[in-house]
Amino acid sequence: MTSNLEDLYREVILDHYRSPRNRGELAVPPAHKTEGFNPLCGDEVSVFLDVDAHAGTVRDIKIQGQGCSISQASTSMMSAAVKGQSVAEARRLIRAFKAMMSIHEHKLEGESDGSDLAADLEGVRLGDLEALQGVVKFPVRIKCATLAWNTLQQGLDEIESEIGPEADTRS
Ligand code: ZN
Repeated sequence: MTSNLEDLYREVILDHYRSPRNRGELAVPPAHKTEGFNPLCGDEVSVFLDVDAHAGTVRDIKIQGQGCSISQASTSMMSAAVKGQSVAEARRLIRAFKAMMSIHEHKLEGESDGSDLAADLEGVRLGDLEALQGVVKFPVRIKCATLAWNTLQQGLDEIESEIGPEADTRS
């Protein structure tokens, strides 16, 4: 039933909010720090990324922040989802999560069914991350849920532009 599913979703969110995963910081450098801010709600997140440029993986990630339960739970869930993954997989998750939330936003606003965005979700398993879609009742709160993912994306972009594309071929 829908209400049971919402209860389950709320449990998942509260669990991440109360016991955030990967909380802390990494030494900068070698890690990279990126900060994100959602002025609509006052949410703040800091994402510390340790990317293994040679292997192309997110070797470690730590998070800090403050704000509403959705923003902080989303940050914790994001960190658990991408830690140890390849950078390519992390980017796939970012795209899929943002597609899921913007499809949801369009539905809340009674616009399109978002089928034009469905391609980004193909073949990506979001698992618990779908809980965020379940608890976000208003389009304005979607910014709370996507803050961590936009900050992660910014961090990966900054790291990539620092390292340069030739880093992969060095040994
Ligand atoms: Zn918020």
